[in-house]
Order: sequence, then structure tokens, then C-alpha cells
Amino acid sequence: MRILVVEDERVLCDAIARSLRNLAYSVDCSYDGRQALEILAVESFDLVVLDLNLPHADGMTVLKTLRKDDRETKVLILSARCEVADKVAGLDAGANDYLTKPFHLDELAARIRSLTLRRFTQDDVVLTCGSLCFNTKLRMATVGDEVLSLTRKEMGILEHLMLNQGRPISQEELIEHVWDGSVNSFSNSVRVHISSLRKKLRCALGHDPIRNRIGEGYVMEEV
Ligand code: CA
Repeated sequence: MRILVVEDERVLCDAIARSLRNLAYSVDCSYDGRQALEILAVESFDLVVLDLNLPHADGMTVLKTLRKDDRETKVLILSARCEVADKVAGLDAGANDYLTKPFHLDELAARIRSLTLRRFTQDDVVLTCGSLCFNTKLRMATVGDEVLSLTRKEMGILEHLMLNQGRPISQEELIEHVWDGSVNSFSNSVRVHISSLRKKLRCALGHDPIRNRIGEGYVMEEV
């Protein structure tokens, strides 16, 4: 799950990014509206956390520009403005949710979870594939009583594959959803993370639930 946080108060922006990274999301930050528009023009995210009062281009401009050709990416507005009119304007312009500052980071995480799960029409916070479970709330993968010890990247890959079971996922798609811009993300390193994830899954499950479909990508399926 890849998230862009657009917030010009750097301390707040960095605190949000840190707390979301701890939950195994891939997070990029932008401290101004114009830069956010540049990033959004070339990269894709599952969700944007968007402040309204921003230098260079305000949050409403960012939102309206994004929505011209993208209805998919979820947008959660953060704002110090608590007027109902602002909230309505944001939602009318295509925001998916709205959080008024100050807020608790746990509240933000809960809203993000609900928006990203809604996208996949999953009611449950636990994704399953056979005896493998991934709890999207606790950011934890389990097989029976055993908790798998996964790195942040492995967890991101696993979540994306479990959300898209039965569909082949290319390395490019994994890079888009799981990697953030701070990483030199190239196919070799996807292969390395996938291979260590598969080793751990094979060890816990007794088989490997991920298959290579030549020319298409990785598919996760219950066997
Ligand atoms: Ca601001």
C-alpha cells in the first residue's frame, strides 16, 4: 500500500510518515502543493493524505487537478479549518474522507485502513489465503498460532498479493504499490524480497502459495 503525505508542517509530516511506515505502509512525503502535483503526475499511489493550506498550490488545487483524470486514488484531507463548508467543498471535489487537526495518529491510521479496505470491498481486516492470515490492522501475518517474522517490504508485498489473489502482479506493479521513492527500486531488489518472503511462507505453510506466471508476474492462490 503506497501513500503520499502532503503537509507543509515538516514535523507533522514526518511524524505521520513515521507512524505509517511503522504500520508497513510505503510512504512518500511532499512539503508543498506544486511538488505534490509533480509527483502525482508521474507516480501512482493508493492514497494521498492531503493538507489544505499548502505553499505554491493549495490542497483543493491538488485535489481538483488529481481528480481530472484519477478517481481511483483515495484522498484523505487534513485540515485545521473545521468549517462545515470546507469539508463539504473537499468532499464535493472528490476527497474520500476528512480529518480535522489536531488529530491522533491512531485515528488517521484507522481512517486510512477503512479507506483502503473499502477499495477492495473487504469487510474484514483479516485477509486469508488457505491457512495464511494477514491482519491489516495489526500488520501481522500468521499461520495458525505462528506469527511470521517479515520485513516491512515482505509485508507490503504479501498484503498486495493477498488483496489481489488469483491475479498476476508484475514487478512494476509491486514497485508502484510497495516501494517508496526513497528506495532505489529495481527489479533485482523485488526479486530478492519476493524470494525471501517465499522462503518464509514455504517454511510456515509447508508449501509456497506464490507462483510465477511467465511474462505476467506473481500470483497468489490457495492450493
Ligand atoms: Ca499546512
